[in-house]
Amino acid sequence: MKTMKAAVFVEPGRIVLGEKPVPTVGAEEVLLKVNTTTICGTDVHILKGEYPVEPGLIVGHEPVGIIDQIGPGVAGYRVGQRVIVGAITPCGQCNFCLDGHQAQCGGKPMGGWRFGNTIDGCQAEYVLVPHAIANLAPVPDELTDEEVLMCPDIMSTGFSGAENGQIKIGDVVAIFAQGPIGLCATAGAKLKGATLIIAVDGIEERLKMSKRLGADAVVNYKETEPVKAILDLTNGRGVDVAIEALGTQGTFESCLRVLRPGGVLSSLGVYSGKLSLPADAFAAGLGDHKIVTTLCPGGKERMRRLMNVVASGRVDLKPLVTHRFTLDQIEEAYYLFANQRDGVLKVAITP
Ligand SMILES: [Zn+2]
Ligand SMILES: [Zn+2]
Repeated sequence: MKTMKAAVFVEPGRIVLGEKPVPTVGAEEVLLKVNTTTICGTDVHILKGEYPVEPGLIVGHEPVGIIDQIGPGVAGYRVGQRVIVGAITPCGQCNFCLDGHQAQCGGKPMGGWRFGNTIDGCQAEYVLVPHAIANLAPVPDELTDEEVLMCPDIMSTGFSGAENGQIKIGDVVAIFAQGPIGLCATAGAKLKGATLIIAVDGIEERLKMSKRLGADAVVNYKETEPVKAILDLTNGRGVDVAIEALGTQGTFESCLRVLRPGGVLSSLGVYSGKLSLPADAFAAGLGDHKIVTTLCPGGKERMRRLMNVVASGRVDLKPLVTHRFTLDQIEEAYYLFANQRDGVLKVAITP
């Protein structure tokens, strides 16, 4: 049996470089030779045991690769083609997909998230892509692997915070947390036509990046109380859309406290435990507020659009890749990324 190297979840606290069999291709599947991939904040939740997955699972859900083998029933692709696949791999055919909720494919919450969750992921030499026709998105020749590396998850998720927040031209938007996803939400708010974008974080390098990607004002919560700062910046009016990109009670609540009546709280964070709504910040439930949540949109059409954005030059996410490792160095990469050492934003991993 042919084997390959892969990042394998063993137990909480341990993701190790292991050997796994190269997968056998079945119907509707494609085997991808992984060119470049990355580590996501969600993988760190898995590493820490905060999001449970089966021991022995290969982690990772952001592949750029080359088609190596094509299974029965997959038309329209050729061996050797360079493609990306979204972190979310919908079937494209179930009622939930056809209703526009690809991330909830099959009707289970987060059902479309398969890579590195319910099936082996892509921090490996090879990855098996399910529902290949719905998910393989060819990469235009002029774009490099690193240029499209943010499309499968970070860019798709961050932009969706702006899109589902239904930002209108001329809106005032606040984004709480400027990790990679929050930064992409900032870039998305700019693309959607917001004219005052306020980014909140506690790390100066990240706030610098926020400005580069479209923030008009930044608030370092370690120096200034962000709710007051945002209300001051908006003359007490509050924001039209508040985007939550961390997943804590504090940031969720701050979003509500800066939201004008009738505004939208667009939530991207992954919460654990209990989330509570303080009645005063929620206008006792009578403020016409909307709260929307989104899991990363996937599927090949989403990926095609995101690569169009990259190709257009309207957003430059290349500076988000701050560090590079080979797959052999994956444990070192996890250590750096999980502990946010050395100003890391995203790492590129090459098998
Ligand atoms: Zn992710
Ligand atoms: Zn489906």
